[in-house]
Amino acid sequence: MGTLQVSHGQPEPARQRAFHAFPPQCELELPAARQTVIAAAAALCAQSPRRTEQADWMRTPESHPGRVLAEAVRADRDWPPFPRAMRDGYALRAAEAAAAGKPLPCVGQVRAGALARALPPGVCLEIMTGAPVPAGADTVVMIERTWRGEDGIHFDAPPRRGDNIALPGNESAAGAVVAAAGRRLTPAVTAVLAQAGCLAPVVFAAPRVAIIATGDELTPPEQTPGPAQIRNSNGPMLAALARSVGAEVVYIAHVADDAAALRAAIADACAGAEAVICSGGASVGAHDLLKPVLDSLGAQLHFDAVAMRPGHPQIFARLGNQLLFGLPGNPLGALLGFLLLARPALDVLAGFDAAALSSPFITAEMDFGYHGKALPLVAFRPVRYAAAGAGTPHFKARLQEIPYRGSADVAAAAAADAWLMIPPGITELAAGSLVTVLATGVTA
Ligand code: AMP
Ligand code: MG
Repeated sequence: MGTLQVSHGQPEPARQRAFHAFPPQCELELPAARQTVIAAAAALCAQSPRRTEQADWMRTPESHPGRVLAEAVRADRDWPPFPRAMRDGYALRAAEAAAAGKPLPCVGQVRAGALARALPPGVCLEIMTGAPVPAGADTVVMIERTWRGEDGIHFDAPPRRGDNIALPGNESAAGAVVAAAGRRLTPAVTAVLAQAGCLAPVVFAAPRVAIIATGDELTPPEQTPGPAQIRNSNGPMLAALARSVGAEVVYIAHVADDAAALRAAIADACAGAEAVICSGGASVGAHDLLKPVLDSLGAQLHFDAVAMRPGHPQIFARLGNQLLFGLPGNPLGALLGFLLLARPALDVLAGFDAAALSSPFITAEMDFGYHGKALPLVAFRPVRYAAAGAGTPHFKARLQEIPYRGSADVAAAAAADAWLMIPPGITELAAGSLVTVLATGVTA
């Protein structure tokens, strides 16, 4: 077997330990590991520019969530396209109402969608929100600030000229960019496209992802496991995660802990995918075969461990034009590996600007006290957001504890809204302290 090429950090000095062929060679701190995957994804994009296509979002809406605009979308006309009433009320000339100091007779109604005649002098017109303000009117007084007498419409206060009218082009002028390249096709961006009449924006093709679960002990979820077997839960989880960030899952496999089978699966996966995500076999046990297999395939190893728990064994390598993630088999290590490492790389492959990726870390307040062992790495714990205060103007994310039984506890992960980050060496976090959490941002 050859020696994997390490592109970051120095191999550890040889030690007399019972590791098998491939002891950890390059452990990175989490921020460095994230920078490494983002830089590698950006380098791949620079080398072979992303494919683009037109998103026919009206006819095939299900295929477009998560896609990223490759070209800016421009307004096809001014918005608003006409002077637009912002309130239900009365259209009038402010000077006439103020000068008269008395009611203005209402001589008609302007409905949304209808063009009205010009406003005659000395009167007002009832107008609906969204209707074009008639020529001659310079103000709309909201209906709540008026009352109707026998002699016409009375105003609580002298109207102010210009109130409640959005002028043409007020939000965007014809030709202006209304959705910049690099925006995801969120529901709100879809509204912008619809408003601008853009039916087929140019988007980046979804990154193609392969998922390979490894392990002799795994059975497919639909089979009854034997006495020493467990169901493959990482495969479906990772496929769901990849889809939730807008990737297309083009290959799914389960392979035994067998070097030839793993090698063949990786080669197959690389034929159709830009990112290959493996689970299991990434550590230092006798049957953890991913590193030797990558070595035999001539991969360039960037790192093989990250100073975090769960999820310490994390392999990241480049294999030809593919990025390969070797996540741990432990389900929570695999989940965190995806969220922290695979996701930013997929975001870059999806078309986001690598320099402008938003951080998944937010500050929140502890609602419980934490006590634990001092660890030389970042520890993550699943947490829930406290319900109290949600929906009020003063909502602040407060963290509640979830029973946690270690890195195989998928039930704890399923109950979590976020992950508390416990910095290295920290043994206590008092209730009320401000802490950093990893917001999963995964809703699908
Ligand atoms: P490994 O990283 O292959 O040593 O696996 C670590 C632990 O995760 C073992 O207890 C495995 O049984 C478990 N595991 C590995 N792959 C999966 C999977 N696809 N689904 C659920 N558990 C797994
Ligand atoms: Mg295994």
